Amino acid sequence: MYMVSINQDNCVGCAACVDACPAKILGMENDKCEITGDAAECLGCETCIGICPNECFSIMEL
Ligand code: SF4
Ligand code: SF4
Repeated sequence: MYMVSINQDNCVGCAACVDACPAKILGMENDKCEITGDAAECLGCETCIGICPNECFSIMEL
C-alpha cells in the first residue's frame, strides 16, 4: 500500500489535487489540502504530485 503525505505549509489552496485524485481521498479544510477520505485507498498513482504547483505531495510505498 501507499502512504501520501502533504506539506501544508506549501499549499496555496488551488484545490487542483482534490479534483484530480482518482481515489477521491483529498479535500480542502481552511484553504489547505488535507486527506479527507480513507488514506489507505491511495493508489500511489502520483497524479497529485504531477498536478500540484508547489510540490506539496510525497508518496511512500509501505
Ligand atoms: S497518489 Fe493518486 S490516489 Fe494517492 S493521493 Fe495522490 S492522486 Fe490520490
Ligand atoms: S494542488 Fe497542491 S497547492 Fe493545490 S490544493 Fe493541492 S496540495 Fe495545495
